[in-house]
Amino acid sequence: MSDPQQSGERVYKGIAVSAGICQGKVLVLHQAAVEVPQYEVAEADLPGQVQRLQQALVETRQQILEVQRQVSQALNAKDASIFDAHLLVLEDPTLIESVTQLIYQKKINVEAAFHEFADKYQATLRAINDPYLQERATDMRDVTSRILDNLLGRRPQHEPSPLLEPCILIAEDLPPSEVALLNRKNTLGFGTDVGSKTSHSAIMARSLQLPAVVGLQTASQKIQNGATALLDGYGGLVIVNPSDQTLFEYGQLTKRRVSMEDKLHELQFLPAVTLDGKQIVLSANIEQIGDLEAVKFHGAEGVGLFRTEYLFINRESLPTEEEQFQVYRQLAAALKPHPVIIRTLDLGGDKFLSHLKLPVEMNPFLGWRAIRFCLEEREIFRAQLRAILRASTDANVKLMFPMISGVGELDQANALVEQYKAELRQENIPFDPNIHAGAMIEIPSAALAADALARRCQFFSLGTNDLIQYSLAVDRLNEKIAHLYQPTHPAVLRLIKWTADAAHRAGIWCGVCGEMASDPALTPLLLGLGLDELSTAPSLVPQVKALIRQLKIQDAKELADFALNCESGQEILERSQALAKSAAPGLFANS
Ligand code: PEP
Ligand code: MG
Repeated sequence: MSDPQQSGERVYKGIAVSAGICQGKVLVLHQAAVEVPQYEVAEADLPGQVQRLQQALVETRQQILEVQRQVSQALNAKDASIFDAHLLVLEDPTLIESVTQLIYQKKINVEAAFHEFADKYQATLRAINDPYLQERATDMRDVTSRILDNLLGRRPQHEPSPLLEPCILIAEDLPPSEVALLNRKNTLGFGTDVGSKTSHSAIMARSLQLPAVVGLQTASQKIQNGATALLDGYGGLVIVNPSDQTLFEYGQLTKRRVSMEDKLHELQFLPAVTLDGKQIVLSANIEQIGDLEAVKFHGAEGVGLFRTEYLFINRESLPTEEEQFQVYRQLAAALKPHPVIIRTLDLGGDKFLSHLKLPVEMNPFLGWRAIRFCLEEREIFRAQLRAILRASTDANVKLMFPMISGVGELDQANALVEQYKAELRQENIPFDPNIHAGAMIEIPSAALAADALARRCQFFSLGTNDLIQYSLAVDRLNEKIAHLYQPTHPAVLRLIKWTADAAHRAGIWCGVCGEMASDPALTPLLLGLGLDELSTAPSLVPQVKALIRQLKIQDAKELADFALNCESGQEILERSQALAKSAAPGLFANS
């Protein structure tokens, strides 16, 4: 019988972080990573632990066979065959041997031993650079969490297996490393209880052009697995059991959006130049080599930020210099003569390597991350810098250091670049001797010391995602205080202006690669503040370009003058929005 509570349209409101509309079945992902107790077991009781493992495997086998039977009835035998792989895991002799060994070696309970084994097993699969095996890692997570559920006496969390068919994922949280691994074919979009617009999961969703809504609060507890839903990545809504009227309205909206995108695509090869002739470099932020096509398709003039972290996460070992070189080289060759700005590793914050056991910190965003980490972990930094230098032979590669807080770090980083150039020269390996290095300005101290930094590098790129969080002391991941995260706060705008002016006085250029650059409502303001380059999510390049082409730099400057003398961030936002709307009304008609 249908539950009356569950029928009828229900709307969950969150924060829209990645544009697009999708509709389909919901798969609620419950977090598998619950506390797994570990305790010592007396020698005499160890065989009992092994017996419990065997029992859990038998139980799991019965459950999987049952799910397989249901799936083959509901779908077809081919879909059900995916579970054969699950069954094979249960029969794998290494599983029983390894877990038994752990139980005896460490004299611990079976849950803890199994948990340790399963973690390693999945990580090994993921580390193999093969998309098929990486998808299998997701399957494996399903089966191992099922075994763990049985050991812990918990009811299995989700059935049937995730991603058997296209679905909308709903979860309490999806860390960026998991978003990067999502099965693209069967993931329509996702919604999470927590998160914010500048979390790396949201940024990744925009790169993947996957509709996403975050900050849905308790939706993952309320929405039922298997429900039909519509996810609106423009308005930040998840609508469960959408009515015919809702579906009709969204159908119309989708049509209007598609026709607007087709029109914007006509600008692909046109420059981002204002009506009164100011040329802006409009480039794209990317996270993986797979984003290259989107960069070209949307007509970006190169890459303004390559977040190299994703080359390092979701694997068990570090990428070698050669492996990195191949990726950087491929990018540079594909985009030349446009520039490719490669940011050195920015680990920490919300991006971690599972295999590097980094200390757990109270405030990871204020901790041992980015350049701070690289300046200490010299071998990691050396491999990356050498790979970037080696990829620079077409003279379109630039390197960029994240989280510079003052001149000391920039001096050290520059000195290392010179040292590795000398090494390469000795080894007769070619590179661009005039490669440009830039500093990300994302810490208020760097913005305020911009004049000194500008004498030590060839460009600045404002990382406004972090600059805002540090200036306003608002954690960029925390949806509870998302309303305080205000890009148009007068303090933030003054730091931007200060930075751009210092750059220009020193004769270098200054861009923005934070998410502010991707918001067309803020384009007039950024132009007025004097920015030379904007680097946005690839899919947002056409919108920002269309707007730039309808603006006059003179109007933008007047807006910025107003903003720099205004006390209210909200008023500044409204003025910038109003100027953007009056310049390009069509762009905002469907938002
Ligand atoms: C930023 O902080 O604005 C930025 C571009 O870097 P990330 O979002 O990767 O921290
Ligand atoms: Mg940053």
